[in-house]
Amino acid sequence: MSNVVTRFAPSPTGFMHIGNLRTALYSYLVSKSQGGKFILRIEDTDQVRLVEGATDVILDTLKMTGIEYDGEPYVQSERLSIYKEYAEKLIAGGNAYYCFCTQQRLDSLRDENGIGGYDGHCRNLSKDEIEKNLAEGVPYVIRQKMPDEGKTSYTDVVYGEVEIDNSELRDQILIKADGFPTYNFCHVVDDYLMGVTHVVRGNEYLTSTPKYCLLYDAFGWERPTYVHLPLLMGKDENGNVSKLSKRHGAVSFQDLVNDGYLPEAIVNYIALLGWCPKDSNQEFFTMDELKSAFSIDGLSKSPAVFDYEKLKWFNAEYIKKMPDDKYEEKALPILDEFCENYINTKKLASLLHTRISYFGEIRKSIDFVTSRLEMDSSFYTNKKNKTTPENCKEVLVDCLPILEAVENWDNDTLFAVLKEYSASKEKKAGAVMWAVRIAVGRQIITPGGATELMEVFGKAESIARIKQAVEELE
Ligand code: GLU
Repeated sequence: MSNVVTRFAPSPTGFMHIGNLRTALYSYLVSKSQGGKFILRIEDTDQVRLVEGATDVILDTLKMTGIEYDGEPYVQSERLSIYKEYAEKLIAGGNAYYCFCTQQRLDSLRDENGIGGYDGHCRNLSKDEIEKNLAEGVPYVIRQKMPDEGKTSYTDVVYGEVEIDNSELRDQILIKADGFPTYNFCHVVDDYLMGVTHVVRGNEYLTSTPKYCLLYDAFGWERPTYVHLPLLMGKDENGNVSKLSKRHGAVSFQDLVNDGYLPEAIVNYIALLGWCPKDSNQEFFTMDELKSAFSIDGLSKSPAVFDYEKLKWFNAEYIKKMPDDKYEEKALPILDEFCENYINTKKLASLLHTRISYFGEIRKSIDFVTSRLEMDSSFYTNKKNKTTPENCKEVLVDCLPILEAVENWDNDTLFAVLKEYSASKEKKAGAVMWAVRIAVGRQIITPGGATELMEVFGKAESIARIKQAVEELE
C-alpha cells in the first residue's frame, strides 16, 4: 500500500445527492488508483441538520456502487473530547481564544441585513478575566485567532493557486457553546489524525481552505494536498446551466435507482463528469478499470453538466449487456404487476430487453398490452408493404380461421403459418405481418413483430383483438 489516504466525509442530512456521490467516487479513485487507503467519516456534529436514517442511506449507497471504504467508518459525534483537547492546544499556543460574548452583543454587530463579522472583542481578555468567567460558568465558544495582516495561499490540484488576504478572515468559531466542534475545525483535526494526504471535496470549500491551512500551520502539521471538484450543473429550460437541483430531474442516487437506473451505469456516467482518461476515448468502465485508468491530472475544472439523455444512453447499454436472468429479475416483477395473467410476461420482457433505457420505462411502454388502445385505420397504410386498410382487412379475415386452428401458440409456429398463408395467396409476407401486427398491437411502433406480439398476448386475446380490428374496419 502507498501512503495515500483519502476520505469521504458526508454529513448525514438525508439523501445522497449525485454530486456527493461523484465526490465519493473521485476521492475513492484518487486513493485506489495509487494503491492507497480510503476512509469514511460521518460528519454529524451539526445536530440541527441531522436526519434519522441518513447514515444508512450513505452506507447503502456506497455498498451498491462498490465504493469500498477501509476499516470502520469514523463518527465525529463519538470524538468530541478529541476536538476539545486540540482546541485547548491551540489556545495554549496563542492561536485560539475563549469568547464569552453574548448572543445579544453579537447581534448588535450586524446591520439590518444581518451582515457584519465578529470584532475580536475577546481576543485580548486578561488571564484573570478568562479564569473568572470559566469559574463562573459563563457560556463560551472557542475562536480561531486569524492573523491581522499578510496573505495565506495554497495550491489546489484542480484550480491552481488560491490566495486570500488574512484581513478578510474572520475569527471563526472552532467549538460552539454546546461543546460541539464546527465543521471548520473538526474536519481539520480528523484529516490530520486520520493521516489524510489528499482532501478531495466539492469546490464550495475552495475559498475557506486558507483558514484550514492556517489551522494546520498553527498546529505545526504538514498541510494535505487539496483537490477541489467543480460543481455538477444541470441544463435549464432556457439553455443556461445552474447548480444541479431537483428541477433538472432526479438528483439523488436512490431516486435514480428507483426509476430503474443501474448503479454500475450511474457510476460509469458520473465518473466521466469532470474526469476523462488520458490518451483514450474509452467510455465504458467497470470499477476496476476506473481504478487503473484514473489519474488526478485527468480532472477538469470546468463545471460538468449532468445530461440525463446521456445517462439514459449509458443505462440502456448496461441493460442490453445484462444476462437474461439478471434482467428478468428486475423486469418481470414490473410486468407481472401490471399485466393480466394471460400475458406471456417472460416473452414480453425479452422483447423489451434491447428497447428500454431504464426499468421505469417498462411501465410506459406497455400501455398497448395493458389496454386495447384507441386506434386509427390509417395505421394500416404502409407504403413499403403496399398495405391499405382495405387489403389489411382482407388479410385479417382470411387469417382468422387459420390462426384459430393453431395449437402450438408460439412465435415459430405462428410465423410459419402466416408465411405459408402469404405464399399461398402470393402476398408479400411483410404486408401480411403488417396487417396482423397493427391489428394485435393497435399502435404503429411495437416492440417485436406480429407473431412475437401474438405469442405475448396468447391465443384468446390475439384472436379477440383481430376480430375487433375486422369489425372496426367494416
Ligand atoms: N461534511 C462536509 C460536506 O458534506 C464534508 C466536506 C469535506 O469533504 O471536507 O460537505
